[in-house]
Amino acid sequence: MSNPNNTLAKARIAVLGYGSQGRAHALNLRDSGLDVVVGLRKGGPSWEKARAEGFAVAEPGEAVQGADLVAVLTPDMVQPKLYTDAIEPNIKAGAALLFAHGFNVHFGQIDPRRDIDVILVAPKGPGALVRSEYERGRGVPCIWAVQQDVSGHAEARARAYADGIGGSRAMLIRTDFKEETETDLFGEQAVLCGGASSLVQAGFETLVEAGYQPEIAYYEVLHELKLIVDLFYEGGITRMLEFVSETAQYGDYVSGPRVIDAGVKQRMKDVLKDIQDGSFARNWIAEYDAGLPNYRKYKQADLDHPVEQVGKQLRARMAWLQAGAAKAAAEPLKKTG
Ligand code: NAD
Ligand code: MG
Repeated sequence: MSNPNNTLAKARIAVLGYGSQGRAHALNLRDSGLDVVVGLRKGGPSWEKARAEGFAVAEPGEAVQGADLVAVLTPDMVQPKLYTDAIEPNIKAGAALLFAHGFNVHFGQIDPRRDIDVILVAPKGPGALVRSEYERGRGVPCIWAVQQDVSGHAEARARAYADGIGGSRAMLIRTDFKEETETDLFGEQAVLCGGASSLVQAGFETLVEAGYQPEIAYYEVLHELKLIVDLFYEGGITRMLEFVSETAQYGDYVSGPRVIDAGVKQRMKDVLKDIQDGSFARNWIAEYDAGLPNYRKYKQADLDHPVEQVGKQLRARMAWLQAGAAKAAAEPLKKTG
């Protein structure tokens, strides 16, 4: 809903990228009464989609010209070149440059011009949820930060942008680029993507190597994880403990710390150190620049893991998932990042 007190009420906002976050932000900002232009490569995969959804669409450099706020919502690894080619030569003095992840600024891959504001608004959820919550009159909590304030309004602009995408309806937490970047990388590496998938694979291998059926191992260590994570999400570990049997709780208390022991925590600290001292970022940028040779190899190993083979067959028999898959195919942007 249009808010006349919004600092961005008369501003032109260029949203670069129309993927998970870009599409959700552009739609929410527009529905909040703000003036949005979408910046994309002509002939790129999202150009027609943004056009069909009623946006003015322009090449990135053109979209940046005249914009009072430029939201950089392309994949992180393409942002440095996008900045050099399209943003730096075109962004107005006094305009704001906004990110949804601090990686490039924090690790020095983008060195923003000194005459612009540099801010961050990162929703704590995938774009599809940012959009669907907004449509329900709610919002996804956002963390926000100011890196550079030349206008004297950087904070108001970040807050206004968070208002525009619906984040303020839920909660805003102030952070800085360093904290957002380091905690985001740590979470996905140690716990969410890396930790969880390695835990599942190790559990699956343990059962199968002990002679149990892979189908049953799949249900026990992967499928049922959703039930537990849903309970965490709704009410924390407390809710999970309320929900599971006494036997499961006792097993949790005595065996959880045997598996995830002090050695695991020490290695988590090592992972965090590599993030903090920049070695992870250096390695990842070198890997990306080399054409992703190891990334492809690691990914293939994950895709080839036996838990994936058995999972594919079992999921084909889960009617409720087939309905979900059909819905996801109809709305292809439903992805998390
Ligand atoms: P995405 O991969 O879903 O979408 C990227 C978009 O950028 C696509 O529209 C693509 O066509 C376009 N694009 C690619 N290269 C381009 C170029 N050179 N010029 C112009 N457009 C180009 O990306 P995403 O997941 O929405 O991530 C965008 C940003 O949001 C990243 O900084 C990411 O870290 C951050 N973020 C993502 C999530 C998430 O849930 N996906 C959550 C919080 C923050
Ligand atoms: Mg992340």
